[in-house]
Amino acid sequence: MLDQDPRSRRVVSPGLRWLRFPHRLELSYRRYQCQQAVSAFRINAFYILLLYILLISGIYSMASDPIRGPWLAWYIWVGIIVLIAGCLAQIRALDRYFPVYAGIGSFLAVAVSVAIPGFIGHQPSGQLAQTSVIYALVIVYAMVGLRFPVAMLAGWGGGLLGLLVAETLGQGVDWLVMNRTYTGISLLSMFLCYTTEVRDRMLFFNQRQVITQQRRTQAMAERLHRLSRQDSLTGLANRRLFDEELEREWRRCLRNQEPLALMLVDVDCFKDYNDHYGHLQGDRCLQALAAEFKRYARRGGDLVARFGGEEFVLLYPRTGEQEARVLASRLCAAIRALGLPHHWNQHRDVVTVSVGVATLTPRSPGQPLELLEAADQALYSAKQRGRDCWSFFQPKQPVRLVRDETGPPDKDSGLGKSSSD
Ligand code: GH3
Ligand code: MG
Ligand code: MG
Repeated sequence: MLDQDPRSRRVVSPGLRWLRFPHRLELSYRRYQCQQAVSAFRINAFYILLLYILLISGIYSMASDPIRGPWLAWYIWVGIIVLIAGCLAQIRALDRYFPVYAGIGSFLAVAVSVAIPGFIGHQPSGQLAQTSVIYALVIVYAMVGLRFPVAMLAGWGGGLLGLLVAETLGQGVDWLVMNRTYTGISLLSMFLCYTTEVRDRMLFFNQRQVITQQRRTQAMAERLHRLSRQDSLTGLANRRLFDEELEREWRRCLRNQEPLALMLVDVDCFKDYNDHYGHLQGDRCLQALAAEFKRYARRGGDLVARFGGEEFVLLYPRTGEQEARVLASRLCAAIRALGLPHHWNQHRDVVTVSVGVATLTPRSPGQPLELLEAADQALYSAKQRGRDCWSFFQPKQPVRLVRDETGPPDKDSGLGKSSSD
C-alpha cells in the first residue's frame, strides 16, 4: 500500500535499508525505540537472569572440579551486570539513558564471556565455557533491545576486548572453536537483529503514516463541518447552523424555563442599493453590516447568522422582553450611525435596517418556529411602519401584536425614524 505513494517510497527505502530515516523522523524513531526497548527490558531482565542461572548451573555441574571455582568467580560478573541493568531499567527517570547503560553492560558481558575460555585452556571444560559466549551474543542481539549499530558495537567491541584479554593475560584463544562459536553466532545474531530492526522501523513508519492520515482526515472533516455551517460572503453562521442552534437553545430554555429572544433584521431598500451601486458594492455593504451585527452577539450562546439574502437573524438565550427591546433599538441606531451611503433609501441617505423582535419562554419541545414566525410578523410590522425601526411581538396562542415600537420620528429615543422623515 505504501509503495503506491511515491513520497513514502522515497522515505521508506533508504531509511529502511540503512536503518536511518530522514533526520526528524529518525529522532522520533529513536525516542520511540528507546521507550519500547526499556519497557520490554524491565521484564526481559528477569528472563535473562533465569537463562543465566540455567546456564551457570548447567556448566557448573558439567565442568571439572579445578575449573569450577575460577570459572564461577569470573562468570558471576555477567550476572551482576544483568542485575544492575535490570535495576536501572526499573528507574523511569533513567529511561532515556537505556541505550548507554544497556550498551555498556552488553559490551562488558560479552567481553567477560569471550575472555573466560582463554583462561580455562584448551580442555573440554574450556570448550564448555564457549556455551556462555553463545548465550551472551544471542541475548545481546535479540533480547536486550539495542538498536542494530549499538548491539554490533557491544558484540564485536566486547568480543575484541575479551579476545585481547585472553590472548595477553590468559592462555590464549582456541581460534578454531572461537570461530565456530563467537564469529558464527555473531554473524547469525547480526542478521536476526538487522531484520528485526527493519521490521520494527517499517511498523513505526506505517503507524506514523496512519496517524498523520487520521489527523489530516480529521482536520479536513472539521474544516468541512465549519464551512458547511458558515456563510461564505459574510463569514457569519449560515441558515443550517442557525436552525441547529435555535433547536438547541429552544430545548435548553425549555429545560431551564428561561426566555429566548430572536431578532430578524432586514436591510431596507436593498434592491435599490444593488440597482444603483452594483452587486459587488452590495456585497461589501452586507459584509460591513455583518461585522457590526457580530458586535451584538458576544455572550456565550448568542448567535448571529445570515438568514438569507439581505436578511439576518440574531438569537439571544436567557434574554427577556426588556433586554430584547433595548438590543433592537441599539442595533437600529448603530446601523444608522454607520453612515453607509444609500441615496436611494426611502427616508434616509444612509443604509438602515428594520428589525422584528420576539421573546418566548418555551413551553413544549420542537416548536421553535413559533418564535421565528413571531419575529417575522414583527419585522413585517416594522416595514409597514416605514422601515428604519423595530417592532416587538409577544407570541401567544394565537400570536398577536401586543406592542409596536416603531418609531415615529423620535430623535431623543433614537428608536425610530428621525423627525425629518
Ligand atoms: P425592503 O426594504 O422591503 O426589504 O426592500 P428590499 O429591496 O430590501 O427587498 P427585496 O426583497 O425587494 O430585495 C432584496 C434584495 O437583496 C434583492 C437582492 O438582489 C439582494 N440580495 C440578496 N442577497 C444578496 C447578496 O448576497 N448580495 C447582494 N449584493 N445582494 C443581495
Ligand atoms: Mg428581505
Ligand atoms: Mg430588504
